[in-house]
Amino acid sequence: MTERIEKTDEEWKAQLPPERYQVLRLKGTERPFTGRLLHNKEKGIYVCAGCGAELFRSDAKYDSRCGWPSFFIPISDDMIEERRDESHGTVRTEIVCARCGGHLGHVFGDGPDPTGRRYCVNSLSLDFMNKD
Ligand code: FE
Repeated sequence: MTERIEKTDEEWKAQLPPERYQVLRLKGTERPFTGRLLHNKEKGIYVCAGCGAELFRSDAKYDSRCGWPSFFIPISDDMIEERRDESHGTVRTEIVCARCGGHLGHVFGDGPDPTGRRYCVNSLSLDFMNKD
């Protein structure tokens, strides 16, 4: 079981830049095609910008043309929590960091093989760690 990080809203606000706080803690969405990691093709690991949990490998990133960084599989299912999201008059599956509860984005069923899944993630929810 993943060890959980619990912080108050005030603590998150103090720790995160406003634009990251908006996405990670208030479930915001960055404008499509604006994220700084959208076109990143370097080898490495994408970690949660809230707590540093390792979420996705660069090998699992692909160009979904949806406007946000997209991955077809997480490093571990244990690190990603899925929640039913009925906001905006539609039903989607929200994905959050299992360790800190930070909002990442949504997962959809139109991804490539072998999973058929598209983990659609805000750049603002991620940090990239270069693998040297
Ligand atoms: Fe996290």
